[in-house]
Amino acid sequence: MIIGIIAAMSEELALLLEDMDVTSKEDKAKMTFHKGNLWGKEVIAVVCGVGKVNAAVCAQILASEYKVDKVINVGVAGGIGKDIYPGDVVIANNLVEHDMDTTAFGDPHGQIPRLDTFDFKCDEELVTLAEEACNETSDIKSFKGRIVTGDQFVASIDKIQWLSSEFEAFACEMEGGSIAHTCYLNNIPFVVIRSISDNANNGAHMDFEKFTPIGVRNSTTILEKMLKKM
Ligand code: SAH
Repeated sequence: MIIGIIAAMSEELALLLEDMDVTSKEDKAKMTFHKGNLWGKEVIAVVCGVGKVNAAVCAQILASEYKVDKVINVGVAGGIGKDIYPGDVVIANNLVEHDMDTTAFGDPHGQIPRLDTFDFKCDEELVTLAEEACNETSDIKSFKGRIVTGDQFVASIDKIQWLSSEFEAFACEMEGGSIAHTCYLNNIPFVVIRSISDNANNGAHMDFEKFTPIGVRNSTTILEKMLKKM
């Protein structure tokens, strides 16, 4: 079994790469695919870059060229809702691309026209493993729910209120939904695990700088516990 692990930014993969026994590296589409062993599992770990296009290209390469059996996306996200704080972890049970908009035709926001699903559902087994991993640590608070994705760094209260009322989302980020979409098209089980770096409100960019390190630490901790259970 080969597990593809995608992070958008190098700092989100850095801790994991310190622990990984990298046996080979290959560059494709301006991304470096690290092959090797991580916490007892065969993995391919890669930084895809920010945004939906980078993320989709990366996930498709993992599917077509590396034939991965599962995909896990880790990283940071903006938290939605007043009870969610930097460092908390959100395990997605499904994802929606919030910036897809064909509402002019009567479609709901997020619906991809002519696709047979509204949301992209994460693999139940992977979600359960992530939940079990969260339950093993008392110092990381975790949530399970929808994560929404768009090509936008959300930094406004109006926008988070809209994401909350329209999608009942727990977190927003810029890659997960696109990775989920690509995995859906390729029939690959996937899960997205994000730790909160900011609350997607005014000043989110400053919180992001401050809290990304703790977010990365927490999402990596959960991933480690999860892989060790697989
Ligand atoms: N100039 C910054 C841009 C980061 S974009 C930099 O290069 O460091 C934000 C990244 O973190 C994206 O990969 C996204 O998935 C995630 N993210 C964190 N908080 C977010 C928010 N409030 N809205 C959208 N994405 C967010």
